Amino acid sequence: MSIVYLALGTNQGDRLQNLRRAVQLLESAVHVTRRSAVYETAPWGVTDQPDFLNMAVEGHTKLAPFELLDALKQIERAMGRQETIRYGPRVIDLDILLYDDLILQTERLEIPHARMAERAFVLIPLQDIAPNLVHPRLQRAVSELAAALPKDGGVRKFSERITLTDGTTNS
Ligand code: AMP
Repeated sequence: MSIVYLALGTNQGDRLQNLRRAVQLLESAVHVTRRSAVYETAPWGVTDQPDFLNMAVEGHTKLAPFELLDALKQIERAMGRQETIRYGPRVIDLDILLYDDLILQTERLEIPHARMAERAFVLIPLQDIAPNLVHPRLQRAVSELAAALPKDGGVRKFSERITLTDGTTNS
């Protein structure tokens, strides 16, 4: 069993519902053990598009890294994600942030996620669930990386929790 941290993002349709659905679909690949609050973030890169909702989850998985990537891509497709422009609007985006203390650099998959240390919309949710977690390449805790971000980074808390249809809320 491996411990993984994933980032979820959405800026099309019913964004909270997209997060709920993604967390539920994730259960086929990852047993989710913690969920961050939900944050709203101004779009980055392509700025002429709706704001994103972002969250992070922790989970256990039996899948190897590439199997996990394939499972995430399958969930993105199942939720109707279209291939569009890079950094453009999306129903759901699922990224692997960390996988145990693995460091992996291939064309198709990079772990830790290549840009996680500069992204407030990744670090602020991740800090909710894993402040002391150490980034294996940078050897810095998530809370330290978050403290080094430019002030606020355009990330605001949107809701404390999501409620799943089974009535559970995030821890
Ligand atoms: P995205 O636009 O965020 O869906 O990412 C596009 C591509 O990034 C994916 O198809 C992956 O092959 C690649 N990628 C590289 N590293 C990662 C990672 N840690 N998690 C998810 N996708 C990744």
